[in-house]
Amino acid sequence: MGTAAGLQSAGRTWALGSRGICYLGIAAIAWGAVTWVEVGAWTYHYSDRGDYAWEQARNYCQTFFTDLVAIQNKQEIEYLNRSLPFHKRYYWIGIRKLHGIWTWVGTRKALTKEAENWAAREPNNRRSNQDCVEIYIKRPQESGKWNDEPCSQKKKALCYRASCQPFPCSQRGECVETIGSYRCECYPGFHGPECEDVVQCAKLEPKGVRMNCSHPYGDFSYNSTCVFRCQEGFEQRGVDMLRCLPSQQWSADTPTCTAISCPVLSAPDRGELNCSHLHGDFAFGSTCAFSCQTGFALTGPESRECTAAGTWTGDSPRCEAISCPVLSAPDRGELNCSHLHGDFTFRSTCAFSCQTGFALTGPETRECTAAGTWTGDTPRCEAITCPVLRAPDRGELNCSHLHGDFTFGSTCVFSCQTGFVLTGLESHECTATGTWTGDAPRCKAIACPVLNAPDQGELNCSHLHGDFAFGSTCAFSCQTGFVLMGPESRECTATGTWTGDTPQCKAITCPVLSAPDQGELNCSYLHGDFAFGSTCTFSCQTGFVLMGPETRECTATGTWTGDAPRCKAIACPMLSAPSWGELNCSHLHGNFAFGSTCDFSCQTGFVLMGLKSHECTAMGTWTGDTPQCKAISCPVLDPPSRGQLSCSHVHGNFTYNSTCTFSCEEGFLRMGAEMLWCEATGNWTRHAPVCEEDGAPFLKQVLAYSSGTALALAVIVLSGTLIALLAKRLSNREEKKKLLNPTSDLGSPGIFTNAAYDANL
Ligand code: CA
Repeated sequence: MGTAAGLQSAGRTWALGSRGICYLGIAAIAWGAVTWVEVGAWTYHYSDRGDYAWEQARNYCQTFFTDLVAIQNKQEIEYLNRSLPFHKRYYWIGIRKLHGIWTWVGTRKALTKEAENWAAREPNNRRSNQDCVEIYIKRPQESGKWNDEPCSQKKKALCYRASCQPFPCSQRGECVETIGSYRCECYPGFHGPECEDVVQCAKLEPKGVRMNCSHPYGDFSYNSTCVFRCQEGFEQRGVDMLRCLPSQQWSADTPTCTAISCPVLSAPDRGELNCSHLHGDFAFGSTCAFSCQTGFALTGPESRECTAAGTWTGDSPRCEAISCPVLSAPDRGELNCSHLHGDFTFRSTCAFSCQTGFALTGPETRECTAAGTWTGDTPRCEAITCPVLRAPDRGELNCSHLHGDFTFGSTCVFSCQTGFVLTGLESHECTATGTWTGDAPRCKAIACPVLNAPDQGELNCSHLHGDFAFGSTCAFSCQTGFVLMGPESRECTATGTWTGDTPQCKAITCPVLSAPDQGELNCSYLHGDFAFGSTCTFSCQTGFVLMGPETRECTATGTWTGDAPRCKAIACPMLSAPSWGELNCSHLHGNFAFGSTCDFSCQTGFVLMGLKSHECTAMGTWTGDTPQCKAISCPVLDPPSRGQLSCSHVHGNFTYNSTCTFSCEEGFLRMGAEMLWCEATGNWTRHAPVCEEDGAPFLKQVLAYSSGTALALAVIVLSGTLIALLAKRLSNREEKKKLLNPTSDLGSPGIFTNAAYDANL
C-alpha cells in the first residue's frame, strides 16, 4: 500500500470500491460537538458528547459524516491513537460481524487477515454476541488494537467524512482527494473525467434463449447483466448470467439453449422407429412413432414424445408377436411347436403327429400368420383304416371297433357255423399299418376221416363243403351178393365224426340150412357158410325121398332158392284093415311110409291069413302081402232030417257068425235050438237040432213081416237123391236081405266080397 504517498498527498479517499483506501491524507479537526481528525483529504470525527450503541454510532456517522471509520492500515491506526483523546469506553469502528464474518460495513468487505489488528486474545466474544468492534485509543496496553464488544455497548462513534462529493465521479470511480480537488479514478468499466462514459460490450442477440438484461449504465454496457433462461424443454449451455466487463467483453460466452435430450430410443425388437426431431436428435419435441414388423403388434404407445423433463411420454412399446389361438394336440395326437417369438404367436409353427395307429388328416404343420390365425385347418388324428372285413363263407364276424369301423384297434373275431372250423387266426386286429394281423381266415368244413369203400363195396360220396368234411354224405353200397352191414349212408357231422359205424359189405348169407330130417346136406360155399352163391345139395337117407328141390342156392337177396326140402319117408301103399280085422300101425316117418310097421289083427271070430306084421320098406313096398281075416269056420251043418236048414252066412259058409236056422218040415217040430251061431271058437253055439213033428209055419210069417216094416220107415225119413242113394243102398241092403234070406242064393263068393266091403264102411 502506498501509505507514504497517501500521507504526503494529504488527500483522502472515499472508500467505495476495493481500491478506495489506498491513498490517505491525515488531518484532525475538532468541530463543534464533533471532534474530527483530518487525514489527507478526509477527516475523522468522533462524538464527543454522547456514547452510542454501535448501530446508533453508525447512524450518527452516516447522518453527519460519511460512516464509521474504515481503518485500512497501521499508519492510520497510529494516527488515530495519537490524535484522539482517551475515552474509557473507547470508540466504535466500522467493523461488524455479519453472518459470522468480520466485515467492513462501509465496503461490506470481509476483514482480511493482513488487515487484522486485534488485541491479544481478541476477538474473544466473551459473553457471546460481541459482534461489534472497538478500537483502544490511548489504552495503557494494546493501544490502537481492536476488541470485539457487544454491539449494544455505548461508545464513542468514530466517523470519517470524505472530501470528495458525496456522489463523486458519477459514482463510477474513486474520488481521489487531491489538494483542493479531486480526480476520478474511474472504476473499471467507466471512463471519462467524471467517469461518465461506460464501457460498451457487444449487443447480445442470442437466439433461442430468453434473455433478461439489466442495464445499470446503458444497453449492453459495463455491468449490464443479462440473465439467460431457456424455454421449457431446453437446457442451457453456458453460464446463466453474462456481465459486461470493463474489458468490453462479456464475462462469458453467450449461453445457448439446447433442447433437453431424452434417452436415445431404439426401435423395439421387431419394430421400427420413425422419429421427427424438432430440436435435435431425441431431444425435447422429438416424437417417435413406433411400428412393428408384419406379424407383430405394438404393445404400448404408438408414439412417444420427448418431454421437457427429458423423459419420454409413455412406456417403451414392445412389438409382440401377434398371438394365434393356443393350439392343442389333436385327440390321439401330439403337438410339437416351435415358438420363434413366443408361445403360439406369429411364426410359431406347430407340427402335428398322431399316435401309432392314427393318421393325420389335415395339415402336418400350421403356422401362426400375421393375421393371428393359423394356416390350414385343424388336423385330426384318425384311426388308420384296415380293409373292411367280411364274414367268411359259413362264418360270422364279430368286431369291436375301438376307434371306428375297421380301424386301428378294431378287433374282429371270426367264428364259423356249426360244422366249420376256422382256418387261420380267430382274432384279427387292425394294426397301425392298416393291415390285419393274420390273413383272412376261412371257415373250412370240419374234416371227417376219409372214408373208404368197404371191401366188396362202393362208396359214393357227395361233398357239400369239401372232401369228407362236414356235410359230406357217403352212401355205401356193396357188390352184388354183399349186403351192407351198417348204415347205408354216413354223414360227416359237425364234430368231425361220421354218423353211424363203419359199414361193411358182408357177403349175403342165407339162413343156415340144416339137413332135413333123415337127410343130408352138402353145401359148396363160395365165401362163407351159407353165403351168397353157396349151393346146398340135399339128399335123404335110404327110405326117404326128397320132397322139394334137390339143391338150393343162396341168392343175392339172402334167400335160398326153392323151399326147404324134406326127406319124406317113401310111402308104401296105404294099408287098410282087412275085413273083419284091424290094422294097428306105428308110423315112424309117416303114415304108411318107410319105417311104418303095421300089425294086422282080426276080430274075434276071424283068423289072420298072412303075415301079421308088415313093414314099409325103402322100396315103398310092404313086406308081405296084405293078410286077410278069415272067419273061423264052424263045422258045416247039414239040414236035419226033415227039416231045413237055412243058414245065413255072414262071413262065409258056416263060418263065424253064420246063423243057421233050423226048420223042420211041416209037421215036424224042431227039436233043439232053432238057431245056431257059429262062435269065434269055431264052434256052434249048440248042437244042431233035429226035426221032429210040429211048428215050422209060424217062423215064416214073422220073417216076412219084419222085412216089410223096415222099408216103410226108411221111405218116410229120407228123400231126394239121398233117398235114391239110400234107396240104392237099401236096395243093396235089400239084396243083402235077400242074401240073408234063405231063399236067396247062398254061398256065392261075390256076395262075400260085398259083405266084406260093407264091414269096412
Ligand atoms: Ca472482546
